[in-house]
Amino acid sequence: MSEACKILAMQGLLHESVGHVSARVSENEFEIRCRSLQSEDGHLFSRQEDIRRATLDGECVDASDDYVLPIEFSLHAELYRARPEVGAIVHAHPLGTLLCGLTGIELFPIRAYTYDPMRVVMNGVAYYESAAMIDRRERAVALRDSMVGANVCIMRGHGITTLGSSVAEAAMRAIYLEKAARANWIIQSSGRTITALQSEEEEEVHSDNSPAPSANDVSTHWGEFSWRYYKRLMKESEAGRVWPPDKFLP
Ligand SMILES: [Zn+2]
Repeated sequence: MSEACKILAMQGLLHESVGHVSARVSENEFEIRCRSLQSEDGHLFSRQEDIRRATLDGECVDASDDYVLPIEFSLHAELYRARPEVGAIVHAHPLGTLLCGLTGIELFPIRAYTYDPMRVVMNGVAYYESAAMIDRRERAVALRDSMVGANVCIMRGHGITTLGSSVAEAAMRAIYLEKAARANWIIQSSGRTITALQSEEEEEVHSDNSPAPSANDVSTHWGEFSWRYYKRLMKESEAGRVWPPDKFLP
């Protein structure tokens, strides 16, 4: 969890202390990145102790005077309540999806150096038509209802919510959705037209023999490769041995 927060911060999806990652612990409990009133330094510097356990009703099981649950806590609670298959959730405010959502740019399935961002878009992007903070249950229920059958959602003018069976899967979906959005923003704001996918390429993405089988599902080999890459990149960067080479513009 704390590792995922650092990776998403390094990739430009989580900013300062805003946004959150959570993981289901049981039917009624989940862990979530909380904020320390005394020593909060932001997602890039997340620590294991920043991860706290809470019930779906908003009770912090291992509460302390120092840690507070995120204001948008109910976003996580309502999705876990309604979607038993969901094991982890990312809520972030990345730039690419913000720009596309605000300007009504539709995400075309673009192969942004790999099939993965394309596949995330082709598998279905939900839209939540409100920029309001999810600070109460009714808003969380409305967001949940907008995500029926989808694992990724663009909350127009606000951010994104992505779901996964694991933290790695939810985080990879968030990374790929943002890569797709940035590629779309760059191309579509240039005024040029995107040529439709060739049917051959479209078939390949859906095929079991695709070079990136189920690449947005990190339970597969390819997804595991990607997640291991980001974990290694984070560790090497912390050690000062390498700086992330693949920051996707801008
Ligand atoms: Zn938010």
